[in-house]
Amino acid sequence: MTLAPPEGAVLLPIKISYSKAQAFKTCKQKFYYAHVELHPDNPKKPGLMPKVKSPALTLGSHGHAIMEHAMNAIKETPFPYTQEACQKAAQDAIVWSFTQPDSDLTPKIMKQILHFIVNVFPTKGWQILAVEEQYMLPIGTDKVSGRPKVYPFTVDLVIMIDGQIYIVDWKFAADAYKQERIDIEPQIPGYIGAMRALGINVVSGFYGFLRTRDMKNVEDQVVVSAVVANDIRIKRSFMEHLATTEEIIVWERGNQFTTRNTNNNCNYCDFNVLCGIELRGDDASLKKKIDFLPNDYGYEEIA
Ligand code: SF4
Repeated sequence: MTLAPPEGAVLLPIKISYSKAQAFKTCKQKFYYAHVELHPDNPKKPGLMPKVKSPALTLGSHGHAIMEHAMNAIKETPFPYTQEACQKAAQDAIVWSFTQPDSDLTPKIMKQILHFIVNVFPTKGWQILAVEEQYMLPIGTDKVSGRPKVYPFTVDLVIMIDGQIYIVDWKFAADAYKQERIDIEPQIPGYIGAMRALGINVVSGFYGFLRTRDMKNVEDQVVVSAVVANDIRIKRSFMEHLATTEEIIVWERGNQFTTRNTNNNCNYCDFNVLCGIELRGDDASLKKKIDFLPNDYGYEEIA
């Protein structure tokens, strides 16, 4: 059944990103706080945004911004990129990072970023095609609301190697994924499937781990892992995302009863205090006003 929208109504697309789908699978209560609940003060997008974000999230965002700055500078230099050009881009990006709000985090990641860009990147033969490129893949129409469905995603780096296109995702984490995790992680295969659907013939991809764990040898803090993704894996990863998209749409349309998934993630959850207050039935509206801001990240708009 399609419910006809009022004449002239603007139907905002339903946008379910990879991270939003992962959040839904991790904990529905957290998903509700992060992606559905509207802040009482002038919400811009669905979701509450903590005033003080978790250190891991802030470090990751800051690291991505430095990489984006450096990669954009290298892209403007003639290919093959010289080590001197890479070094200048890396150093400029680090200097720039000290002018940014989270500049105090730069010392924790600058050593590994410099090592990767100056000593590893120039040896890879990666020609940069795009940096932090955002894509929107239309994936049909929701039969009930008539709203278009879209898969939004942003690729950290699109590169060419020997005439073939690959994608790269930066990870700022204590440790690199083990091979077993790389073999099941759906992010890069899902992006490859979506890019192919957009007509961009991506062959495969890499994770670039810039490890945040303190280590003696900087060489150990940089790990580049290739993703082996055949057509079946790419299709399955993409189909799983479509299936989760449908689950979210049905759940959001329903009574949105939230279930808590208490596990190790709760230790790092930005909403754990809020979660406890509301679980025991107390009013958390003041806490939401004091400790959270109207959301301004993500791809969604208020319907
Ligand atoms: S604290 Fe745990 S149960 Fe509560 S919202 Fe966060 S992840 Fe979910």
